[in-house]
Amino acid sequence: AKEAGRNNYQFFVPEMNARALERLMLENALRRAIEGGELKLHFQPQLNAQDGALTGCEALLRWNHPEIGAIGPAQFIPVAEESGLIVPLGEWVLHGACRQQVAWARAGHRELMVAINISALQFRREDFADVVTRILAETGADPACIELEITETALMQPSEALYERLVALGRLGLTLALDDFGTGYSSLSYLKRLPISRLKLDYSFVRDLPGDQEDAAVASATLSLARDLGLEVVAEGVEVIEQFAWLKARGCSKMQGYLFGRPMPPEEFERWMAAHDPA
Ligand code: C2E
Ligand code: CA
Ligand code: CA
Ligand code: CA
Repeated sequence: AKEAGRNNYQFFVPEMNARALERLMLENALRRAIEGGELKLHFQPQLNAQDGALTGCEALLRWNHPEIGAIGPAQFIPVAEESGLIVPLGEWVLHGACRQQVAWARAGHRELMVAINISALQFRREDFADVVTRILAETGADPACIELEITETALMQPSEALYERLVALGRLGLTLALDDFGTGYSSLSYLKRLPISRLKLDYSFVRDLPGDQEDAAVASATLSLARDLGLEVVAEGVEVIEQFAWLKARGCSKMQGYLFGRPMPPEEFERWMAAHDPA
């Protein structure tokens, strides 16, 4: 068995090296990208589902590599997490999104919420609440306009310390949202205890609405659970009017998706706002 194991090992070595090398190259490139200005935040509008008003936006990270071109966050966030780069990267995102909130408030958009994705690894660090406190102070961002999106899986095994961290963040005046809701099988009793105010219904449940019966069941259950617990639901990935109508009829609070607007660089987002809500 030992012999066979060794053979297997040797068999897989070249491929493992190639993948490790690829990852290492990506990691080094990402390290340079953070310092070299290759990263940008784009912003995707979030609308009140009932009256269509713009309420906020989600900051989404974009990497434009000088040779390779655009690399999506789904590709590089996992690398950033494995290498620990997610910590400086996450701080860079927090800084940038908070600065953007201040700029937009100065331009008159005082109520515009800016939602920021927080990696599980970032959230699980002991100093996370201190980092957020410092960045709020450094940028002068209004905590009432900042929302943190924490994935459902990051809160799967909630220790007392993680719970206290959420409470501390809530005390700063921030809004807390549970991201990718529905993908992590959270226990419902736990949900009730958490100091969060929003659920983000994952795109995978929105994509095949209203035709797919299972997805319709999950979406309906999420909306009625949220109503009973006094939580708002933000549906992500709304692409067609039928999805919008279905979700709106079931009391969904907010929506986000290509139907309303793609993630956009700040200047384009400003033009989008001007066209959407003419002053
Ligand atoms: P997410 O948080 O679930 O973000 C929603 C994703 O859906 C985004 O993909 C967005 O561009 C995309 N999307 C929005 N509307 C539609 C639609 O109508 N149809 C479809 N098909 N897709 C839509 P994106 O920007 O590629 O980001 C992927 C994931 O990467 C995010 O998923 C999030 O988990 C992660 N991510 C992005 N930016 C950051 C960041 O700054 N920090 C961290 N930790 N993660 C990030
Ligand atoms: Ca998100
Ligand atoms: Ca999602
Ligand atoms: Ca399905």
